[in-house]
Amino acid sequence: MTQFTDFGLAEPILRALSEENYVTPTPIQAQTIPLLLEKRDVIGIAQTGTGKTAAFALPILNHIAVNRVRPQPKTCRALVLSPTRELSGQILDSFRAYGRHLRIHSALAIGGVSMGGQVRSLLNGVDVLVATPGRLLDLVHSNALRLNGVETFVLDEADRMLDMGFIHDIRKIVAKLPKERQTLLFSATMPTDIAELARQMLRDPAKVSVTPAATTVERIAQRIVHIDRAGKAKMLSDILRQEPVDRVLVFTRTKHGADKVVRGLNKDGFTAEAIHGNKSQNQRQRVLDNFRSGRVRTLVATDIAARGIDVEGVSHVINFDLPNIPESYVHRIGRTARAGTEGVAISLCSHDELPFLRDIEKLIRMAIPATGQVSRPAQRTQPQQARNGRPQNGQHRNGGNRNGQSRNNGHARSEHTRNGESRNANGAARSERPAQRPQNSNAKHNPQHRQQRQDQRHAPHDRRPAAAPAGEVGNDIARVAFMQPR
Ligand code: AMP
Repeated sequence: MTQFTDFGLAEPILRALSEENYVTPTPIQAQTIPLLLEKRDVIGIAQTGTGKTAAFALPILNHIAVNRVRPQPKTCRALVLSPTRELSGQILDSFRAYGRHLRIHSALAIGGVSMGGQVRSLLNGVDVLVATPGRLLDLVHSNALRLNGVETFVLDEADRMLDMGFIHDIRKIVAKLPKERQTLLFSATMPTDIAELARQMLRDPAKVSVTPAATTVERIAQRIVHIDRAGKAKMLSDILRQEPVDRVLVFTRTKHGADKVVRGLNKDGFTAEAIHGNKSQNQRQRVLDNFRSGRVRTLVATDIAARGIDVEGVSHVINFDLPNIPESYVHRIGRTARAGTEGVAISLCSHDELPFLRDIEKLIRMAIPATGQVSRPAQRTQPQQARNGRPQNGQHRNGGNRNGQSRNNGHARSEHTRNGESRNANGAARSERPAQRPQNSNAKHNPQHRQQRQDQRHAPHDRRPAAAPAGEVGNDIARVAFMQPR
C-alpha cells in the first residue's frame, strides 16, 4: 500500500489530501487505515509526529461520508479524547482540513474556556467531537451531551492520559458509550496499565506499532553543554546569538522557571514568550499563534504545555533544565525534526542533573556529545531541592515517594485539575516538583570535548540505534531498541 488512492477513501477526502500535499501514507497510516476501514478495533503504538492523527481521522471521515445520517441532538458520532487542549485543537483542525469537502459538523470540548459556546455547538448534534476528559464529563453531567450515539471512540495518547491522572474520567466516559462501537487506542508506550485498559475497552483489537523516536533522534544533532546552574541564563542567550535559529522551543521543568527564563531573555534583547498551565487558554492560543506565525521565535515551555504542540519549522530545542523523566527528553527533542526535517537539540546540564542525563542516555542508547566542564557540586548542593525541602536521596526511581504514593514507570501518579494541569497529591503542579533521583552518576562524557557544532553533528555516537531510512515520518518499532515497553 503506497498511495492514499489505494485505500478506497471517498473522493472528497482524497481531494483534500492532495491539497495538503500528502502523497505517501506514513507507516502508521499504511497499517492502520485498512484495519479501521474493515471496522476492526485497533491499538496503535505511536506518538505525535508519526501521522497518527490522519491514521484515525481519515477512516472516521470516510465512515461519515459513506454513512450519511444526521446526528441526534446533543450527541456525537465520533468521539476523540486527548489529554491536552492544544492537542485537541490540533486534532480538530486535522479533521476539518481532511474533511473540508465533506459537510461535517464538528466541535471541540476543552477546559479553560466558557462552556456556553460548547453547549450551543452540541445542541443539534455533531459528527465529530474532540474533547479533553474533564470538560467532556462536565458537558455530560449538565445534560448538554449524551454519549449513546458514539459509533467510533478514539483514546489518543493513552499513556499521557494516565500520567495526568485521567484514568477515572476515562472509565466513567467509557461506561457511558454504547457497547456496539469501534474503539481505537493510541499510546506512545504500552505499560501494563495501558494494556489492561485496552483489554477492557477494545474488542479483539489489531495491534500496530511504529515510532518516530529513532528516526527523529537520528535526524537531530544533539549536544550537552555542561554548565553550572547559575550560568545557564547567560549560556542560553549566547546560544541564541550563535546558532542559526529559525524557531526555538526552550524547555524548563517548572512554570516559574519558564517565566524567569523569558524575563532573562527579554532583558538580553530577545523576544520570547512562555506557555504553561498558569496561562489562560486564550493566552496560550495567542502565544502559540505568535510562535507559529514567526512573530515570536523563542517559546519557553514546560513539558505538559508543550505536549502535542505541532509547529513546523522548529529548528532548535533547548533544554534549559534536563527532564527528570527520560522519555520526556525524547518527546521534547521530537518537537524539532518534524516531517523529515533536521533539527538541533542542546541541553544545558548542571551537576545536579547528571543522574537525569545518565537515564536519558540509557534510554536512547547513545552517549550525547558534550561540551563544557562537568560542574562541581557547589558547597550547598541542590539549591532547588533544598528550597523544596526534599531529601537528596533515599528514593528509588520506581519506588514510593515520601507521601507514600506508589509510582509507576518512573512517573509520579498525579491528579489532574480541570484546567488541564497535572497536580500531585499535595496540590502542587507536578511540573514544579521534580522527582528525586539518586545522586551518583556515571555519565560518560569527555569534559574536554570542545568541538564546534559542525564537528558534533558528525561526531560518532556510541551505541547509536541502527540508522533508520531518511525521509520517513515513522519507522517500525522492531528497529527501535529504546522504545521497548517500560
Ligand atoms: P501527527 O503525528 O498526526 O501529529 O502528524 C505529524 C505531522 O505530519 C503533521 O504536521 C501532519 O500534517 C503531517 N503528516 C501526517 N501524515 C502525513 C503524510 N502522509 N504526508 C505528509 N505529512 C503528513
